[in-house]
Amino acid sequence: MSKQLMDQLVKESQRTVPVGAICNGTVIDHIPAGSAIRLIYLLQLADHDHAVTVGMNLPSKRLGTKDLIKIEGWIVNPEMANQIAVFAPGATLNIVKEYRVAEKIVPKVPHELRGIIKCPNAHCITNHELANTVFLVENMGRKNRLRCHHCEKAFSCDQILLVRQEESAS
Ligand SMILES: [Zn+2]
Repeated sequence: MSKQLMDQLVKESQRTVPVGAICNGTVIDHIPAGSAIRLIYLLQLADHDHAVTVGMNLPSKRLGTKDLIKIEGWIVNPEMANQIAVFAPGATLNIVKEYRVAEKIVPKVPHELRGIIKCPNAHCITNHELANTVFLVENMGRKNRLRCHHCEKAFSCDQILLVRQEESAS
């Protein structure tokens, strides 16, 4: 194969978004690149047996690059949608029924997140006593910041670990 043809094929494959069309389920699109992993933990997608398609660093006109998650047979509920909006601001959520978009969910960023984040501050009381964490969500424009209710330190979404993420890493 000529180098020219090879280059062309590579370019085309980069332009083609892997769209495994789903029949009934949820499509989370326009996820800021790099955030899909956190959503996989947030939604516990590795722990159930729905077919999941994940695209990472896909080309996007609006974002440059984006991540994308398609989940067959799973419908996002409003609370989950709102949590997704904390970690993936601007992500679009579509519920698909019989291969068509049946509903577009417009999430609302919640004021707080309870019990799902581990505080990155090693001295925080939540890391030493059995206390459920509470984090206040602070809107910083395009990104959200999370402030621990107990130690009052603020963290970017990139700095935090979800409780489930930490459990699977240890
Ligand atoms: Zn803390």
